[in-house]
Amino acid sequence: MNETDKLGLTASLYEEHCELNHGPKTGHLIIPAVDYIVQPFGYTINEVEEVSVRDMVIPVCAECASALHGDEWTLLYCFECNSSQWIARSKSKMKYRHHVLWLRGCPCCTKEFGGLYFSDIKALIDSPVFLSQQKIVA
Ligand SMILES: [Zn+2]
Ligand SMILES: [Zn+2]
Repeated sequence: MNETDKLGLTASLYEEHCELNHGPKTGHLIIPAVDYIVQPFGYTINEVEEVSVRDMVIPVCAECASALHGDEWTLLYCFECNSSQWIARSKSKMKYRHHVLWLRGCPCCTKEFGGLYFSDIKALIDSPVFLSQQKIVA
């Protein structure tokens, strides 16, 4: 992401609303976004070089942003159909430690699960990147 993209996104933030799932029967709610999650998708050439094909940019509200910063919730996000689901870590049989798991396909859009997307190992451990915190290298 370059400076122009970041400025453009920041400028249009006021008209964005949260695109994450807020639970059943909340699809009609329009919740103002306060930031974006930015997830670069690409492929790695080697351990050092990574080609970023595109950035996945998702507007999120204050509530979702704080859930993504905390350790209570894990977000499953399907980047095929943009649907999402929250998992309460304390109620899950699985021990989740990631903030976001990016899915290639989910029950909403396909019967064939394409797997998880990891841009690199660091992304497995790191917190999600918010646009407002992103450092731009000029
Ligand atoms: Zn939200
Ligand atoms: Zn899906």
